[in-house]
Amino acid sequence: MAEPPPPLPDQAPGLAALRSLLPDLAAAAVAEDRAPRAPMASLACLRQVGLLAAPLAPGLGGLGWGVEPGAAPALGTALRLLGRANLPLGRLYEGHVNALRLVQRHGTAAQAQAAAEQARGGQLFAVWNTEAPGEAPLALGAEGRLDGRKVLCSGAGFVGQALVTCRAAPAGPPQLCLVPLAPGMRADVSGWTAQGMRASATGAVDFTGIAVAPAMLVGQPGDYTRQPEFSAGAWRFAAVQCGGVEAVLAALRDHLRQTGRGQDANQAARLGQAAMATETARLWVSAAAARAEAALPGPEAAAYANLARGAVERAALEVLELAQRSVGLAAFLGPHPLERLGRDLATYLRQPGPDRALAEAAGFVLGAAAEPGTLWEDAP
Ligand SMILES: Cc1cc2nc3c(=O)[nH]c(=O)nc-3n(C[C@H](O)[C@H](O)[C@H](O)COP(=O)(O)OP(=O)(O)OC[C@H]3O[C@@H](n4cnc5c(N)ncnc54)[C@H](O)[C@@H]3O)c2cc1C
Repeated sequence: MAEPPPPLPDQAPGLAALRSLLPDLAAAAVAEDRAPRAPMASLACLRQVGLLAAPLAPGLGGLGWGVEPGAAPALGTALRLLGRANLPLGRLYEGHVNALRLVQRHGTAAQAQAAAEQARGGQLFAVWNTEAPGEAPLALGAEGRLDGRKVLCSGAGFVGQALVTCRAAPAGPPQLCLVPLAPGMRADVSGWTAQGMRASATGAVDFTGIAVAPAMLVGQPGDYTRQPEFSAGAWRFAAVQCGGVEAVLAALRDHLRQTGRGQDANQAARLGQAAMATETARLWVSAAAARAEAALPGPEAAAYANLARGAVERAALEVLELAQRSVGLAAFLGPHPLERLGRDLATYLRQPGPDRALAEAAGFVLGAAAEPGTLWEDAP
């Protein structure tokens, strides 16, 4: 008998529940930006409808988001919807998905089972890889203790399970280590003075002295940066960013409707250009997701995702400029929604090594045997 067709993304389990939360998540984004504090109300909403378990394989009680090849469209839609409603929350959820995916891919069955129980119990996971420029990487000493800190850790102070990269030797390959953290433990968010993404509570976490039991080590050294998954996975943060772009487009359209200025030829042209750029971003993300989440992604999946993240960044910057020009000064004055959305999106667009990503993609194009028109044809 033929396999049943996969559900359309909008009908995929989990998405209806997520859609029902969107008004609350969008309202919470306003309050959580003002306070700047952890988005506890938004996270509670996700917990309530079981979305923290969605990245788990069905056998572990989840929906397979992030681990099942067929689940990419649903995950992509979820990340876009979250980014549209609440960009800091989307960032946190993307990290949660990434961490659970890495544990399920590279960990033992017992580690995956334990992580699944924690996620089903409402714990938030994160991947913290970034080190402060000039600081030694987080070390895993011969005596089995961590030494050093991570910076730019989203969810510092309220993530319950942090998947960190550490090294047995400073230039050695990164080893994933899953560290359980109590609320507030070792976190310092005082340096998070960013213009936007305030509620992502992105801070420094000092791991010095934490004893590492063998069960905390996930996979082998080098698994975290294994290609093409490492670069291809960029489609997930690009999906969240794409949601942020959609939110800016929505705010621009609302403004033009409310002010009755949408018929003006200049305003109409800018709205049309913004709609074009937003759809460009969505198409890139969905094509990158399909390649990245194929059963056996090849090097083209990494190159494609590297191009996709650049295309989404370009589209986002264009839409921001168009919206700010159309709305004018009001776009920079709170409580206009564009004031916060612009800060959040501009901040979240800063992701690691954009020049390197573009250069790597260019290297793939340079070395590929196919003609430019068929460069990506072999992939899904
Ligand atoms: C809201 C938010 C949340 C985050 N949360 C997390 C998290 O939970 N976990 C985590 O690990 N990280 C997190 N980060 C950090 C993130 O992953 C990036 O590391 C960070 O945003 C990159 O910042 P950057 O623009 O300074 O990047 P960089 O990579 O330093 O790039 C800055 C510029 O320098 C260029 N450049 C980079 N390297 C070189 C070089 N060697 N020589 C010359 N030029 C170079 C780049 O192309 C770019 O033009 C978060 C960041 C943000 C904004």
